[in-house]
Amino acid sequence: MKRTKIKDILLSEQTDYAVTVKGWVRSFRNNQFIALNDGSTINNVQVVVSLDTDEAIVKRLTTGASISVDGMVVASLGKGQKVEIKAEKVEILGDCDTEKFPLQLKNRPSLEYLREIAHLRFRTSTFGAIFRVRHSLAYAVHKFFNDRGFVYLHTPIVTASDAEGAGEMFRVTTLSPDNPPKKEDGSVDYSEDFFGRCTNLTVSGQLEAELGAMAFSEVYTFGPTFRAENSNTARHLAEFWMIEPEVAFNDIYDNMDLAEDFIKYLISYAMEHNREDLEFLAQRLVDEEKQKPQAERSEMGLVEKLEFVLNNKFERITYTEAIDILLNSPAYKKKKFQYDVKWGIDLQSEHERYLVEKHFKKPVIVTGYPKDIKAFYMRMNEDGKTVAAMDILAPGIGEIVGGSQREERLDKLEQRMAEMHIPAEEMYWYLDTRRFGTVPHAGFGLGFERMVLFVTGMTNIRDVIPFPRTPKNAEF
Ligand code: ATP
Ligand code: MN
Repeated sequence: MKRTKIKDILLSEQTDYAVTVKGWVRSFRNNQFIALNDGSTINNVQVVVSLDTDEAIVKRLTTGASISVDGMVVASLGKGQKVEIKAEKVEILGDCDTEKFPLQLKNRPSLEYLREIAHLRFRTSTFGAIFRVRHSLAYAVHKFFNDRGFVYLHTPIVTASDAEGAGEMFRVTTLSPDNPPKKEDGSVDYSEDFFGRCTNLTVSGQLEAELGAMAFSEVYTFGPTFRAENSNTARHLAEFWMIEPEVAFNDIYDNMDLAEDFIKYLISYAMEHNREDLEFLAQRLVDEEKQKPQAERSEMGLVEKLEFVLNNKFERITYTEAIDILLNSPAYKKKKFQYDVKWGIDLQSEHERYLVEKHFKKPVIVTGYPKDIKAFYMRMNEDGKTVAAMDILAPGIGEIVGGSQREERLDKLEQRMAEMHIPAEEMYWYLDTRRFGTVPHAGFGLGFERMVLFVTGMTNIRDVIPFPRTPKNAEF
């Protein structure tokens, strides 16, 4: 018989029909009750094994084993479920080596421990919930933009340009690391490399997306990005996914509206489609918070937090206002900040978190940053000191979105590139957009994993990507 998903059986609550289910044993008690899970839902279905089942089979029904069950869906007498499966035939698909199987369901394994056990991680309730939510959010990204007529543009992963001008890129080469061809001056001769030049993994698809926006009006990218920054934090990965919409004719205010709508859409999509997973994650958070001292516990549960964000407008302030708030804060006066505050600094994570978590208690959009701490392509404001940048800061996360209105005026852009020592000759293809029908336009980058962190309430970014890559770690 065709396999039925456990989710469908539990959702429909119908009874008295025959099914085949397949999955992995979560637990087996009293030689009779199997809790079976197939990943389609956080919930297990209870399979009741008849007492005359072959003893050789019963012995092999251990946690982790994979099985196929033919049986009848019947009303359950037990608590906690409306329906269960009365097994007629149980077949072992794959035994589980119980001696080596590390999952002790009784004491919950730590997230760090699970990161090291690739085969087990996905099978836990926590990671099952996280990655189903991640999937939904990815789907919602495409749905949001598709519904609004954006074109999904695949920007290159191997690139010769450094979008941010910040370095920190992974080199892509087929040259021998031990014995690369050299030029006369002793430097590596990349003209002999695969692409005939020095290439890297992309840090952002923005510059290429801008070319798309100059034809389709609205485009977005959603792909992997790579940063060789040696920041071993709970918010940075070396390989992460980024969503970058780019819209012709939008100014910085349209850009803020788009980003706020987008974030809210993603949250509401997950709330609607992943209710049970989110409730499980909310409970996990409650349990985790219990370990913390009272003062550090968050005031809101996960679901309340998401609802709160949905129902409130993001605060919008300028960088200059943000600095004033920080300078007047009790935290500053009591010298609680590690990094100094003055106009011109790049806001540190502690400053961002003060603004969102203590002062406004909701997401904040900061605009008008000093030009010297932002990228060359951001549009210069009238004051000649600040640019039309916007960062969105989220509670518990810090920066979740970085964006700007772009400098569409060729002379201003060239001037800025010269000041920042960005080689204009190599960027001719980008500057061409300003030569042949330039228009005001704006866009932003949303770090997908930071969004997943926010929605799942997890605290370490390594726990929301299936196979995390961080400094000194590229296992599996
Ligand atoms: P941060 O200051 O947090 O390092 P950034 O200023 O380098 O961020 P951008 O270059 O503006 O970030 O990238 C756009 C978005 O990509 C960020 O708002 C963030 O959500 C995400 N992001 C940036 N770097 C990383 C990283 N190393 N790992 C995961 N997400 C990241
Ligand atoms: Mn960074």
